[in-house]
Amino acid sequence: MADSHRILIVEDDAGIRKLLRVTLVSQGYAVDEAANGLEGQQMLLAHRPDVIVLDLGLPDRDGQDLIRDWREWTSVPIIVLSAREQESDKVEALESGADDYLTKPFAQGELLARIKVSLRHAHKIAGDGVPVYAQDGLTVDLAARSVTLDGEEVRLTPIEYKLLSLFVRHAGKVLTHSHLLKEVWGKHSLDQSHTLRIHTQHLREKLKDDPLKPRFIMTEPGIGYRFRG
Ligand code: CA
Repeated sequence: MADSHRILIVEDDAGIRKLLRVTLVSQGYAVDEAANGLEGQQMLLAHRPDVIVLDLGLPDRDGQDLIRDWREWTSVPIIVLSAREQESDKVEALESGADDYLTKPFAQGELLARIKVSLRHAHKIAGDGVPVYAQDGLTVDLAARSVTLDGEEVRLTPIEYKLLSLFVRHAGKVLTHSHLLKEVWGKHSLDQSHTLRIHTQHLREKLKDDPLKPRFIMTEPGIGYRFRG
């Protein structure tokens, strides 16, 4: 499906920029390119892209700083594309407000899928989406607070339901451990990752989800979880 969403690429490697541009244009996206943070900032202001694909290692600014700056005034989805493989870098980017993270070298299909998720999510925030998630036998009605799996009601504890509703509202996106802890248990629970693991495990059992071959909840090791989008 062609659409005219505008993607801003901020990346100093001309080869990768070209590869991204060719891929994105072939999918019907309009593309702006910036080779450093300053250009990226100018294009962000001038062209108001729908999604930003951001490299972290830029010649003039660190991408992590750009994310923090931009999040002060814009909620445009930011997908980080970086050679940095450290979990701490990924967590930092996500905590600063990035929406997703891909490590170089990346599969183009994967990037396109992540862009689609980001666009869909941005639209959901903007509009009044129907608050029902239905996929692969699972239905979560956020208005009625009801959950069914393969037509049968699933009984969840309040904590499990909170977790599930966060997952489905952010389906396809990584949610970090500390984000989930903050949202479900409040701000002072950052040391309770063990608790999070236990409740996620219970939720998986009730959804008949196999952690090794997940149908719904995928583990992002050292970072958090991603609900299938
Ligand atoms: Ca770079």
